[in-house]
This record gives sequence, structure tokens and C-alpha cells, in this order.
Amino acid sequence: MSQKFSYAVHATDGSARLGTISTPRGDIRTPAFMPVGTAATVKAMRPESVRETGADILLGNTYHLMLRPTAERIDRLGGLHRFMNWDRPILTDSGGFQVMSLADLRKLTEEGVTFRSHVDGSRHHLTPERSMEIQKLLGSDIVMCFDECPALPADEMRVAESMRLSMRWAQRSRDAFGDRPGHALFGIQQGGVTQHLRAESAEKLREIGFDGYAVGGLAVGEGQEAMFGVLDYACDMLPEDRPRYLMGVGKPDDIVGAVKRGIDMMDCVLPSRSGRTGQAFTRRGVVNIKNARHQDDPRPLDEDCTCPACRSYSRAYLHHVFRSQEIISSMLLTWHNLHYYQELMGDMRAAIGQGRFAAFEAQFHADRADGDIERL
Ligand SMILES: [Zn+2]
Repeated sequence: MSQKFSYAVHATDGSARLGTISTPRGDIRTPAFMPVGTAATVKAMRPESVRETGADILLGNTYHLMLRPTAERIDRLGGLHRFMNWDRPILTDSGGFQVMSLADLRKLTEEGVTFRSHVDGSRHHLTPERSMEIQKLLGSDIVMCFDECPALPADEMRVAESMRLSMRWAQRSRDAFGDRPGHALFGIQQGGVTQHLRAESAEKLREIGFDGYAVGGLAVGEGQEAMFGVLDYACDMLPEDRPRYLMGVGKPDDIVGAVKRGIDMMDCVLPSRSGRTGQAFTRRGVVNIKNARHQDDPRPLDEDCTCPACRSYSRAYLHHVFRSQEIISSMLLTWHNLHYYQELMGDMRAAIGQGRFAAFEAQFHADRADGDIERL
């Protein structure tokens, strides 16, 4: 196993890339989807089960973990991997995005952000230096720069100011991170949906130098068309020999479109959160298991799916346990959804390797256009 962090591209098909990120904790096959383990758990799933779906890496949320149980406590208990029983790679976000979306009474200055916890109202200060310290205490394998990101739409002046602040924070993050062999620090490109701001941000990040580069500030209300529009040029602005990460994306069709445009890594709460609200992702689109049409249906969610929910349980059963608010409902639907997402990534990796991504994409959309199986 590699003792260094490295990235290799094995094949390309158009802009889509097949590769491997190597870390001391194991390889990450790319394009990769990272399930979100917000509070040191992927909700309703044991880590062994998450691994069985095919996940090579999880995402942890700095904001949540710093508030509860705190980074210092996790460090004393042996780090996040040991704490949550996941020995493979973990990426942590910087906390910046969630401070902006969840915390109360935020105050933003050049130095950082002061805020009150949404859990107990306690006061906290987060800076690039403190974010690097917390992510180190957690033992994160891939650390993200501390940044700030305005919700879209925002006027260009506001987006430009925010991006330049994030670039100064990127330099401070790089300085504070230091030299940590086997651990990676990713820079985050900002600039909203404005091409020249994206170019300015990418240039600054390349000048500082990072192990990987995220396209940040998307999936914040701009819509799929605008997001793809940015990815059409943003990926080319980032170094070819480093992984590219699209943060917080997305629905299956967002993911296919992002991979097509050169994205290597993604994360989203959608498969796990939807599993808890009775929504299942299948090749033929979204199935709402709470719908009465399933109550007498002995068929699985997807006959070709090999996950435990599809192998052993009927739509009728899944409908019943969801309506009865049984815990197994969240467990089974989350497992199915994560399995679906990982299978989608595997199918894309195979298609890129064989130079047939366009055919894969056409089939992906054709299957979804067919819609769910006919009701009984
Ligand atoms: Zn399934």
C-alpha cells in the first residue's frame, strides 16, 4: 500500500477520466462518490455495510464534529477512523459552508467567522488555522481549505469579494497545514457562475499549489444548466494531474453530467437522506415507496439490483415499514440508494475504461425516460 498521497489517470474518454487516488489508508477508484457521514455515521448504516456498497471513502463534517463531540475528544479517543470504525480514507470539509448555512449569529471578518452553535447556542470562532487544526485532530486523510461561499444568485461584486477572501484563506490554510506526508490538502475554486472570476481563482490556487482541487460554490441554487455551464470551462482551468472534486453534488443525472465534464469526486447527502424519506433511486428514476401503488406489489424495487433491500424484500414490505415508521425502512432504503450510487460510479468507470461513455450516457437517460415499472 502506498505511503504517499498520489493520483493517476488510467484512461480518458472525452473529458471524463478514469483514475486512482492512492493514500496510506487505501485506494480510491475515480470517479468516486463519497457517502456523507455527517456526525461520524452514515445515518442508518453500519460502516461495514457502507463498504459493501462499494464506497472507498467517506466524508465527515467539521462543523458538526467540532460542536459535538468536539475534535479534541475524537483525537483523545484515537481519531475519527477509530471512533467511527471506518479504516479507509476520510475527507473532511472545512466547516465554512455549514457555518454559513446552519449556525446562528454569524459574523464574518478577514480573520474568520464567529458564530453560535445551532446545537446549544455556544460561541465559536473558526479561522483557516483553526479549521486545519480541527481536521488534523480528526485525522482526516483529505483536508479541505477553509473558504467562504455566497448563495447564488449573488451580484458579481459580492461573488468577487468573497472569492478573493477565500483565496487569501486558501494561502493561510496551506501555511497552517504544513508538510504532512500521506495527507492531502485540497484547494477550492470559487467565482460563482462568472468565468473570469473562476479563472482568477484557479490561477491563484495553482500558484499556491494543492494536492487536489475542488470546484466550490456550485449546487447552491444556480440550477443544473448553469452548473454544467461552469463545469464546461472550470475543469480545464485546474491541473490535469490532480483530482477534481465537485462539492455537494448531487442527483444521479448531475453526477453523470459532472463526470462527463471531467469531475473525479463527488459527495451528497441525497442517497442517504432520501432513503429516510421513502425515496429510492433506480435506473428507471425515483420510486416513492410511500405511494399506495406499492402496497400489494411483491416485486423488488429493482429486479437487477443485488442490494439486501432488493434481494430479500418486496415493494409491499418496504411500503409497509415506511408507513409504519419502522427503523428498518431507513436502513433498507439507504442501503439500496448507496448501492445504486456506487453501481452508477462503477458503470461509469467501466464505460470510460472501454471508451464508451457516450453510449453509457445515452442508455442512462433512455432507462430513466422509460419510468418506473408498470403497476400491477
Ligand atoms: Zn437495491
